[in-house]
Amino acid sequence: MTTTLPAYDEVVARYEPVIGLETHVELGTNTKMFCGCPTDFGGAPNTRVCPVCLGLPGSLPVANRAAVEATIRIGLALNCSIAQWCRFARKNYYYPDMPKNYQISQYDEPLCVDGYLDVEVNGEPVRISIERVHMEEDTGKTLHVGGATGRIHGATESLVDYNRAGIPLVEIVTKPIPGAGAMAPEVARAYVTELRDVLRSLGVSDVRMEEGSLRCDVNTSLNLPGEQWGTRTETKNVNSLRSVERAVRSEMIRQASVLAAGGRITQETRHFHEDTGETTSGRSKETATDYRYFPEPDLVPIAPDPTWVAELKAALPELPRLHRRRLQQEWGLSDLDMQSILNAGAVELIEATIAAGTTPTAARKWWLGELSRRANETGVELADIGATPAQVAELQGLVDAGKLTDKLARTVLEHVVAGEGSPAKIMADRNLEVVSDTGALTAAVDEAIAANSAIADKVRGGKVAAAGALVGAVMKTTRGQADAKTVRELILERLGVQG
Ligand SMILES: [Zn+2]
Repeated sequence: MTTTLPAYDEVVARYEPVIGLETHVELGTNTKMFCGCPTDFGGAPNTRVCPVCLGLPGSLPVANRAAVEATIRIGLALNCSIAQWCRFARKNYYYPDMPKNYQISQYDEPLCVDGYLDVEVNGEPVRISIERVHMEEDTGKTLHVGGATGRIHGATESLVDYNRAGIPLVEIVTKPIPGAGAMAPEVARAYVTELRDVLRSLGVSDVRMEEGSLRCDVNTSLNLPGEQWGTRTETKNVNSLRSVERAVRSEMIRQASVLAAGGRITQETRHFHEDTGETTSGRSKETATDYRYFPEPDLVPIAPDPTWVAELKAALPELPRLHRRRLQQEWGLSDLDMQSILNAGAVELIEATIAAGTTPTAARKWWLGELSRRANETGVELADIGATPAQVAELQGLVDAGKLTDKLARTVLEHVVAGEGSPAKIMADRNLEVVSDTGALTAAVDEAIAANSAIADKVRGGKVAAAGALVGAVMKTTRGQADAKTVRELILERLGVQG
């Protein structure tokens, strides 16, 4: 590809984007969607399987009540209407990771419809309409071996693991989102972020994008102002929040370049590449008729009792947006301060650190300061930095108790992040505690005075500011492990000068 891509500013000056998001969430139920196999991750290949999830002849599925309940709770949290009666549908297609030759999903009768999710983009509220929330089952995993890339191309053999086949999935589909203009990438990211937080607050999934329990496909199209919406592409493999934003932006730029050259956009799936930030063509998109959907004859319809749905609604937890508003008040923060915590993905971390016994100010300082800086440097999400809220609270406790200076605490934190254990243990193991033994400190002070008698005389003569050099000398011999204020007081005391 040698064509020069247009700048993003030019793209949005000329075209209007329409985006849409389809999100798959792996539910955290104990068992699979239609059988009793365990869902825990990491078993040896094909050890979490049974005749139902292997699609053996004569086996019959039974819907998992916990998965239905979780889906209804998701629908309610997204302000959807819950169907009083709906069915599963067979989506017919062949793929080696799907042993039945069809996937049980929902088609024209989803469990939850017509909802919305309010998100904030740069402090402005944006309402994203939700078209549907439906249940389906996950596929197995294929592993291509023998090649250099791990892809099927060049591989000598392909292995299939059905442990994941049949794990409950919920698909959440937005209505098309027009009108976001240049902000479309940020809107997409804000939506997935908020959705993730909602799902987490419901406790229905561990929503880890990098492990695939939350997966996002991003639809993008461009049109000229006043004209019909353009042909959309569907970008897959978008497995971080940052990638959601990048995928929309790069696809807008690519489509604009095709359109500007007089070309046409093909309706297709595309793959997002984390390394280059670009998308490449996948397969041309099937239409619904290709799948020959029909109602699943092996399962009874789902008809949730309205009383049960009402109970589930009444028992929903405080949703993230309201929760954040309450925290902002409790922590006494401005909108701007709260926004920076949100942008850093630190709300829950700070909350948990405070719950572990630290003040809001201290919790915020560590997570937005030292730890955010490291997260940015190493390119990991703050939550995965390697320090827990409990450890941060413990660290601050050691500072408050005078056992660590701020500087020493930062050193300890470095070792916490490196996985060396609790702050107290690291402080002891690495001998980083503030020297508070007065005997040792006095000896260090006397040594410094003896070695710098000219300076000591100046201080005695009234030039108290000169004491700084003596403090520096003591800090050097104690390897920075003394509290500078205490050292200064001690020096002045030994020299018989009033501070
Ligand atoms: Zn099974």
